[in-house]
Amino acid sequence: MGKGKSNETFTHHHENGKSLEVALDLTRGSGSPTDPWKQPGSNYPSTPGLLAMDDMQMFSHIVPFQNPAEGTPDAGLGAFEYELFKLQQPHDKDVSEQKRQLALSVTRRFFGRMKANFLGFQTVINPSYSHLADFLDCHVNNAGDPFATGSYLSQAKFMERAVLDYFAALWRAEWPHDVRTQKADDSSKMMLVAAPENPTSYWGFVLSMGCTEGTLYGMWNGRDYLSGKIMLTDGHLAGKCLLECHTNGYHSNGHSNGNGKAGSYSVNADPERAIVEKLTGTVLRSPTKESRTPICFYSSASHYSIRKAMVILKIKTFHKVATKLNFPAPKGFNSWPTEVPSNEDGSVNVQSLAVLVEEFAKRGYPALICFNYGSTFKGAYDDVGKAADLLLPIFHRHNLLNRSFYYIDENGEKRLVKRHGFWFHVDGALGATYMPFLKMAHTNQMLDSDVHIPEFDFGLRGRKTEHYDYSDIEVVNSIAMSGHKWIGCPVPTGVYMTKTKYQIMPREKPSYIHTLDTTLAGSRSGLASAFMWDYFSRHSFDDMMEKAAHCHRMATTTLAGKLRALNDLVERRDLHPNLSPSSLWVCHSPLSLAVIFRRPNKAIMQKYVLCGEEDFRHGEARKLTHVYAMEHVTLQLVDRLIHDLSQDGAFDLYE
Ligand SMILES: *Cc1c(COP(=O)(O)O)cnc(C)c1O
Repeated sequence: MGKGKSNETFTHHHENGKSLEVALDLTRGSGSPTDPWKQPGSNYPSTPGLLAMDDMQMFSHIVPFQNPAEGTPDAGLGAFEYELFKLQQPHDKDVSEQKRQLALSVTRRFFGRMKANFLGFQTVINPSYSHLADFLDCHVNNAGDPFATGSYLSQAKFMERAVLDYFAALWRAEWPHDVRTQKADDSSKMMLVAAPENPTSYWGFVLSMGCTEGTLYGMWNGRDYLSGKIMLTDGHLAGKCLLECHTNGYHSNGHSNGNGKAGSYSVNADPERAIVEKLTGTVLRSPTKESRTPICFYSSASHYSIRKAMVILKIKTFHKVATKLNFPAPKGFNSWPTEVPSNEDGSVNVQSLAVLVEEFAKRGYPALICFNYGSTFKGAYDDVGKAADLLLPIFHRHNLLNRSFYYIDENGEKRLVKRHGFWFHVDGALGATYMPFLKMAHTNQMLDSDVHIPEFDFGLRGRKTEHYDYSDIEVVNSIAMSGHKWIGCPVPTGVYMTKTKYQIMPREKPSYIHTLDTTLAGSRSGLASAFMWDYFSRHSFDDMMEKAAHCHRMATTTLAGKLRALNDLVERRDLHPNLSPSSLWVCHSPLSLAVIFRRPNKAIMQKYVLCGEEDFRHGEARKLTHVYAMEHVTLQLVDRLIHDLSQDGAFDLYE
């Protein structure tokens, strides 16, 4: 509030006394939070580039607002923006058509501006999907498992499955998915889940959130696998299955629904308990508590979503456990680092990773490791193969290559289940789509330089050493990527993929949708699958290689090259002579599409939509930013940036 005038703002609109009373009744009178007379405080968020001071003058007859000259320009614009988009209207009216069109055209103009100069994030800002505009006039929902049609028929799972197969092939997984797990293996027991013939075939789904959802699912998947939870394929081994386990719950549910008492859910419907009980009173077991406690390792360059996943899933990180149990600091460390150290280029330091993992492996803990394949800020690729070379012998030494769990079957017999004591998840938000094509381009001599492309996918195996043959060990358990990053979908999406044998036991087969509830979301975006399908149907491998090689050149030669040339001028003090220290700290990790440099002034940051990051590695807090060589980045755009960075005051600090 603050201005004391807010309530007067609309008094001139109160021409209709009756509807005002209604509105008062519905809102003010009841103290409803949708009270239309609410005004933003001066801290209310505003959007740089959405409106200009001129707009306030021009639109003031449509948007009711106190004197535009009031307050600071920023606060004025913020409040004006709020009024322009506010859905609640005084005295119970609709948003006027005139105001609606104005708001939409302001928004369009804003998106246009975003497209003109967008450089700071790893998304393609100008995808083109308007040829699918008619898809927007149907609700398309891929609820439930991608490989079961289920009862919600307005779906695009046929496209989703094609997209998944495409990625399975790209990531060298066995495809197609073995759908036997979805089928009844006995017609009299329609609910039974059959054992897969090819447990190594992939399983996955198209995400409705971005890679964050994929990482969350990967961590959940890995946690349950390592802690000895019953997986989908184990359920079949028990001669029982999830769905039979649930019979009680469903029956009472079905009954109450049938009797018109919808919503009175069965109190027995605790799925964890049901599964355990039906497997004759026991969870999968192994001897110690440690062996059922996965410890998570991820590098300091990881995306912030991994830290959130730890909290949501209550997964323990090595730092948390080591400090809580007072483990002595590991070799080469003075104290326990909070995250696995990363190298200067942003990739995980595999030697440190090995030291930290072994501290836990020797105590019997299994390892849940999240690798980055394209770290967010520096765009660095963790060398998963090199990590495996160091880690597999450690797992071997400490009996974590092959662990045996057992459960007691209904005849009272002990049944063994073999599992690895590690789970490698690859967070490949950008890199898992970009790098396979860069590799193809490299193989086809489309790059000018020789490059080393670290392996990360399902084809990765251990190696034969002089002591032991690890070559039949499948290293990677799960991969996730973002569909709106390198591919350029117009909505957040992505792919999560694992193997059929690692599938989590779904908690339910809701009769409501009649597919296993194997995914994270309930309703899932069908459009996301349609967009990705459309994209790959329009782009051949040749196109994709061309695009990868182009982006690579744009990052390496154009962006990094021009920023380095600018930096040379600064270091010679020919440009920005007062800058201290006289460097732009330009940095480009191998094969990264990101180029990092000193953070420019606020106007430049906003114009090019740049992000901020701090680096403390060099004994000083360096304020940095980066630009990403995504598909839409042109030479002209880069030159515009370089021009702006050459102007006086371009690196004036703010905040
Ligand atoms: C962007 C990114 C994510 C998160 O992806 P969203 O699609 O934004 O959810 C996760 N990990 C890395 C390395 C990323 O760069």
